[in-house]
Amino acid sequence: ASEKVIHFKQDVWSIFTPLALKFNAVNLGQGFMNFLPPNFVKEAAVNAIFHNDYNQYSHPKGSLHLRKALADTYSPLLNRTIDPETEILISAGVIEGLYSLFAGLLDENDEVIVFEPFYNHYPEYITMNGGIPIYVTLHPQGDTSKTISSADWKFDINELRSKITNKTKMIVFNTPHNPTGKVFSTEEMIDISKVAREFNLIIISDEVYDRICYKPNIHEHIANLPEMWERTITLNSCSKTFGVTGWRVGWLIGPKNLISPILAAHTRIVFCVNAPLQEAIAISFEKADKENYYEINCQLYEERREKFMKILSDVGLPYTIPQGSYYILVNISKILIPSDYQYPPEIQFQTKDYKFCYWMTKEIGVVAIPPSEFYSEENKWLAQDYVRFAFCKTDDILDQAAIALQKLK
Ligand code: GLN
Repeated sequence: ASEKVIHFKQDVWSIFTPLALKFNAVNLGQGFMNFLPPNFVKEAAVNAIFHNDYNQYSHPKGSLHLRKALADTYSPLLNRTIDPETEILISAGVIEGLYSLFAGLLDENDEVIVFEPFYNHYPEYITMNGGIPIYVTLHPQGDTSKTISSADWKFDINELRSKITNKTKMIVFNTPHNPTGKVFSTEEMIDISKVAREFNLIIISDEVYDRICYKPNIHEHIANLPEMWERTITLNSCSKTFGVTGWRVGWLIGPKNLISPILAAHTRIVFCVNAPLQEAIAISFEKADKENYYEINCQLYEERREKFMKILSDVGLPYTIPQGSYYILVNISKILIPSDYQYPPEIQFQTKDYKFCYWMTKEIGVVAIPPSEFYSEENKWLAQDYVRFAFCKTDDILDQAAIALQKLK
């Protein structure tokens, strides 16, 4: 194996999703829905393949129809007329979008600031493309033995400043944030944008949970701050917005001079994204407003959030109330596992949260994700008292989880 991948451990998703099946546990681990996407989205996909012929390659930039639909959707959000020819690129989910982005923009040993906890694959995409991730950590403030808000997870702007060197090229930023649910405040974004301008850095803004933002919180685009459009790439996808995580259609929006080298890499990596589902997403964007879809969908998530928070309160576990996303971090420090409990090799040498998630899957029958996976090696201990549940599930599944979690009482 190449040195680029030889140190990669088995990733958390491919450990816990099979474990859920093996132990027949309620799966609140990986963040995918167990309900079907809305009819207008499914119908658009059927039509694209069956009734219309969208079955051949699309342009490497992405289908023009989807780029136009995205330009129409994002121009009012980003307060500018977005050019679908030069300022939008369709990727195979945000994952390939990020990989192509680092491939297209990083040189050997360029440094990339990453907020920690981070979506677990960011650092690997950076190192595979020659970059070096440098971490800035969000710390929960106040008494974490009680329920807090995701707004209480804060970073120190001086720590961010102190980590910048003449090799720093970009900052990877994610709001609403996985796994805390934090929606970064305007003040926090202004602070980050000042640093970006001062040191001439690119901002990579992963906004996949933008349409799952709980009132009174509002998702804001960092690209909208003064002089930030020209240095920001905004990434998003259809996965969370339309409930289709398996479709793998994402997009990058930003200035031509940044999109163009990313397109050069993307063309060599996947050439183009699957054509029929791009068409289906274009149609979905055109229909979503008419169906009042975004608001209804967010309201459903609000209800799931309330339901799951009540389940946790009934069990007596403190948690972080998410301002956005469909994840919830729970403090499990008061639950003790027998010290002689036996773990398989892929779990045995991991931190306490990993062991807890294995134990909970097997003994309690509910899967959560160990958030140490979202921390750098030296900071994994910060996650040891937490687990992350995903509540993008139907009521019957949440009810089953409620019954199983009672055993933690
Ligand atoms: N974003 C999803 C989560 O955090 C997982 C994505 C993946 O498994 N690749 O649950």
